[in-house]
Amino acid sequence: MQNDLFYIGKLLIIGVGLIGGSLALALRRASSAGEIVGVGRTETNLKKAVELGVIDRYSYNLEEEVQDSDMVVIAVPVLAADAIVRKISQSDFSNSFITDVGSTKTSIVESAAKHFGEKFSNFVAAHPIAGREHSGVEAADPDLFINHHTVLTPDENCAPDAIAKVRKMWETAGASVSEMNYADHDRILSATSHLPHILAFLLVDYMTKHPDSQMCFDLAAGGFYDFTRVASSDPDMWRDICIANAQNIVEDLKGYSDSLNDLASKVLSGRSDEIYETLESAKKARDQKIQK
Ligand code: NAP
Repeated sequence: MQNDLFYIGKLLIIGVGLIGGSLALALRRASSAGEIVGVGRTETNLKKAVELGVIDRYSYNLEEEVQDSDMVVIAVPVLAADAIVRKISQSDFSNSFITDVGSTKTSIVESAAKHFGEKFSNFVAAHPIAGREHSGVEAADPDLFINHHTVLTPDENCAPDAIAKVRKMWETAGASVSEMNYADHDRILSATSHLPHILAFLLVDYMTKHPDSQMCFDLAAGGFYDFTRVASSDPDMWRDICIANAQNIVEDLKGYSDSLNDLASKVLSGRSDEIYETLESAKKARDQKIQK
């Protein structure tokens, strides 16, 4: 049955993993996509995606599949996106909207502006701020985006109908959609997402090098598990994010490192009032500003 509100005749997902697969499942469940075609690298994964009912079929001929697709979603790690954009630019996609799901936005917007030329107006960059530490199509979940934000980062060259269509797609998948400038997106997400993921990876790495490493892991409590859950995320994806958003991430790492040094000096000199003030102000901020 066709969804009255939103319908894509042919949806092409490039990179049928957690995010691409979850979007496909959400749109299929809403009866909002006719045919769903996957493009990827590994045949076993693409076959798995067909078996799981995430896509109807798969293809390696990206350029040909793009031409009659109504919506093309680039859902590969962020540094792999440039090569995909270049491939898309070699086909006629005048009748397709192109979007992506990458965790950083500047590199893909710049790549699309460079390679799509006049047809850049068909491209709308997007980032669903929803995910989990498991990757691959087996982890795909049609509920993944419900009650989560998706940020669109269109620039002034984007066609209004392209923005409206991509917005509607994400709303149909259950997300609440907002728009912001792509450079602001990368600056903000560096602090709210990239920094915490990196800190989680680093804490686990630090623990593996601790002189009593095994005992530390054996006795690790809830706080350690809560803090480090995201360190089980895909290193490929996070290496790409580090490189693609290097400047913002390094700035945040330096700022955070200043905070660590500041606390270390308060602890070392036993300034208990100041330690309390730092901890209390963080607790207040978390209790007031984070609803979840
Ligand atoms: P994923 O589960 O690992 O899926 C990535 C998919 O991309 C895989 O199917 C992989 O194919 C394919 N792929 C990788 N390199 C490719 C290439 N060069 N050409 C074609 N296909 C390629 O990763 P994901 O978590 O869905 O992440 C995908 C994108 O979403 C990333 O840009 C990430 O930044 C963004 N994102 C992730 C999250 C999250 O929490 N995971 C949240 C929001 C946004 P194979 O299976 O053949 O390797």
